[in-house]
Amino acid sequence: MATAQNVLIHPAVDNGVRQGQPGFSGGVLTCHCTDRPVKVRVDAQTAHNHVCGCTKCWKPDGAVFSQIAVVSRDAVEVIENGDKLQVVNAAAPIQRHACRVCGVHMYGRIENKDHPFYGLDFVHTELSPEDGWSPPEFAAFVSSVIESGVDPSRMDGIRARLRELGLTPYDTLSPPLMDAIATHAANRQAKPSPAPSKPSASPAPAEARASTPPPRPKPTPTSQPAAAGGSGLSRLLSRLFGGRR
Ligand SMILES: [Zn+2]
Ligand SMILES: [Zn+2]
Repeated sequence: MATAQNVLIHPAVDNGVRQGQPGFSGGVLTCHCTDRPVKVRVDAQTAHNHVCGCTKCWKPDGAVFSQIAVVSRDAVEVIENGDKLQVVNAAAPIQRHACRVCGVHMYGRIENKDHPFYGLDFVHTELSPEDGWSPPEFAAFVSSVIESGVDPSRMDGIRARLRELGLTPYDTLSPPLMDAIATHAANRQAKPSPAPSKPSASPAPAEARASTPPPRPKPTPTSQPAAAGGSGLSRLLSRLFGGRR
């Protein structure tokens, strides 16, 4: 009978979550290649670090979760062997730049300026030998580990272990991040459209409420990818992160 302590989440937290260091100002991420590794300098402390159960984030071998944080894109710079990087899926909302030899994701970047997280890159701080990065604070997209092959019967134990580690499990993102997304969506709704081509066909106000998805998905013009109107939460997340991120 497995106890919560036997449940492995991610190597960076399985022995307890380490705290960050005040005044920590960054380090260098290195991919897993022994020959010509890709190196990416992150010139700032990270924020919103968390473990993530989605199927898109890179995970080390055997880990059920990834560990991922955000940092200003201005602080991220490829410093060595960037020729080995390729974007995993150019059509995804987060463009994950991965080493095409070892497969490690070096940074995820959002190019859509209307995305609520535009300006932030996603990075895996475990790729850096430096100690002191901001510690993981919560667990995101926990139920999605089932999509990666975890037996649903293990979920109680996984959630118990996450709570034991102080990583509150959420099946989307943490409340502060979900609030940031909703605020972004609300602000976009409040602003007049920059190019109102058909004002007479503007969506009804009720359509903007994320809590009441319309019966059928309406085709979204590709020129308006981040308009929040007419979307249930899952569809909003899908558009922002591509699947369950
Ligand atoms: Zn590599
Ligand atoms: Zn993820």
